[in-house]
Amino acid sequence: MTDNIFNEARKRLHKAMKYMNISTDVEEQLKYPKMSIAASLEIRMDDGNRRAFKAFRVRYDDTRGPTKGGIRYHPDVNLNEVMSLAFWMTFKTAVVNLPFGGAKGGICVNPKELSPAELERLSRAYIQAFRDFIGPNKDIPAPDIYTNPMIMGWMANEYSKIMGMYCPAVITGKPIALGGSKGRHDATGRGGFYVLNILSERLNLHPETTTVALQGFGNAATHCAKLLHEKGYRVVAISDSKGAIYSPDGIDPVSMIRYKQEYKSITNIPLSDNIQTITNTQLLELPVDVLIPAALENVITEENAHNIQAKVILELANGPVNNAADEILIEKGCIIVPDILANAGGVTVSYFEWVQNQTCYYWSSSEVYDKLKTIMDTEALKIWGIKTDHDCDLRTAAYIHALSRLSEAIEASGTHAYFSKKD
Ligand code: GLU
Repeated sequence: MTDNIFNEARKRLHKAMKYMNISTDVEEQLKYPKMSIAASLEIRMDDGNRRAFKAFRVRYDDTRGPTKGGIRYHPDVNLNEVMSLAFWMTFKTAVVNLPFGGAKGGICVNPKELSPAELERLSRAYIQAFRDFIGPNKDIPAPDIYTNPMIMGWMANEYSKIMGMYCPAVITGKPIALGGSKGRHDATGRGGFYVLNILSERLNLHPETTTVALQGFGNAATHCAKLLHEKGYRVVAISDSKGAIYSPDGIDPVSMIRYKQEYKSITNIPLSDNIQTITNTQLLELPVDVLIPAALENVITEENAHNIQAKVILELANGPVNNAADEILIEKGCIIVPDILANAGGVTVSYFEWVQNQTCYYWSSSEVYDKLKTIMDTEALKIWGIKTDHDCDLRTAAYIHALSRLSEAIEASGTHAYFSKKD
């Protein structure tokens, strides 16, 4: 993770601004996060030792509503990264027109090294530390890398205990039995699938002749792979942090999901003759139609962008392609479906969960899927229209789309032109 990841993130905004005539107030408003908080979470470990973990919460902008974004548990979490992720959330919520701003949080930890009881203590400590900065109408956390519904349930419970009342709307991504929404668990993968599908004709993709490689096989990737497979796309490669597998004839993602649970890593699965193991680097460079990076940031950079052969990249991860790689890939004619659109399904169903918690009226899976599809399809087509009108890349079009919603909200309180008017 480079230190300048946040400056790199802001460059995408500046690129979009060149196509628009927006007030300087907008640029000022979006210059820095509204609030960045760091804390030390101290917990008692099972062996009796006391250990401290660095933790962060960044609320980037709340002009369009309470700030919203996940909490990541990862050893590499740092403030710069959390700031960039909060910045991206601000644009993501605007892309899909949710009444939210953007935020993100994280704890510097490898959760696999903690016992379940330590993980619970750490998750509750996060809420104790950030209790004054979150709230159902202030800042609403959710899952991100290595956090899950049970952790969200502990967090909502801790907040409710502190407040002395039931407050499920403070966190989304909870277990269904604790106020979670149907369809939240597969929302990110499903949202990406809807976007690829609605744009497929424009991208010149026909499911039966389209090959797909997925880098990462966590929540978003597994659900997306399953839906693509069901639709007739040929999933030819998948990977996890240890390695990848590849078969030009296609892999059945459903059995791979089962195997991964059984054998822990994709690389431990006993393979048939037509499936070979490859490295993560090789997976990214396969001759496929669609490449889906679904793990961490900056996996496609100026170092490997020249070797990428995919025609389309669907960014299920946040920030998998850096700015230098963007330019190289655009030059090569590769179309990148950007993260702020491609993975917005997760936060969209988080919004549905928040609405259901506030109204105490719960929806069926098909209602959730229908509403999600309508939003993803509508916004994807609008962004494609902006790309065509401005003759720009799809990422810039998504930023233009988000920025026009953000600037409308910021400018509604008055601009320099309004306040400097002399009559
Ligand atoms: N962490 C997810 C994201 O990056 C979901 C955020 C949410 O549901 O608030 O979009």
